[in-house]
Amino acid sequence: MSDPLNALQRYYLEAMGIQVWERCVPDQGSRFKVEGSKTGKVVQRPSALEPSPSSQTPEPAMEGVPEGAGNVGEGPDLLKPSTLNLEPVTTLDWQQLRERVAECRSCEELAACRTQTVFGVGNRDADWLIIGEAPGADEDRQGEPFVGRAGQLLNAMLRGIGLEREQVYIANILKCRPPENRDPKPEEAAACSAFLQRQIVLVQPRVILAVGRIAAQNLLHCETPIGKLRGTVHRHESGVPLVVTYHPAYLLRSPLEKRKAWGDLCLARRVIREAAGQTS
Ligand code: SF4
Repeated sequence: MSDPLNALQRYYLEAMGIQVWERCVPDQGSRFKVEGSKTGKVVQRPSALEPSPSSQTPEPAMEGVPEGAGNVGEGPDLLKPSTLNLEPVTTLDWQQLRERVAECRSCEELAACRTQTVFGVGNRDADWLIIGEAPGADEDRQGEPFVGRAGQLLNAMLRGIGLEREQVYIANILKCRPPENRDPKPEEAAACSAFLQRQIVLVQPRVILAVGRIAAQNLLHCETPIGKLRGTVHRHESGVPLVVTYHPAYLLRSPLEKRKAWGDLCLARRVIREAAGQTS
């Protein structure tokens, strides 16, 4: 029987979606802990990133991985212990997810510029999940999405349909502020998407309101202009109905469009009411 995989090898296999089954080794001084699996088989996971016995004996370098890349202080951020957490995002609870986001440095440029990550705010059992683009300067400073003038307008729009900000959950496509408020890069949105997907699963909203072009296009995986996306009910890949509307920052510049945004909110409210079996 071959030796158990080391932490770095397992990390890469899990990142690629490859599940590894190994012989169960009694946990007596072993660095592996034994966990049950859905199939009743036994899965071994490294207990932590403690120095492993194998680190005393040089191992052959993995294909495509620089030798010594798993060592502290060496190699790209991806391989540093803070991000070399082996629990898949899809299994994290709310607090674990928040902590994972707070320590994430997958986007080197954003991690270097941010004041803090902006995880989200609001009611974790909300019917409404409002998703914007990315934190701006105010959000980066305060650690909360949709603050400042755009946030105040969003609050006013919500109040217009009888909702307080505290009743909804608000998050963004990106958890970190892009410098100079530039658009998120596709690779940044892709890197951050697992966090948002997990938030959607944990909140289980009845409707997603995609606020602005960037949010809408990322959530629907398309490049359709926002004017053509709004006004209809889409289905997010999670199965949750999704309505698109304009970003409040755009509405501040184009107040004549507020009427359309109001229509979008009414549409989203209708989705929830119809799901609840109400008629109006
Ligand atoms: S934007 Fe998301 S993926 Fe990129 S560093 Fe921030 S938390 Fe990590």
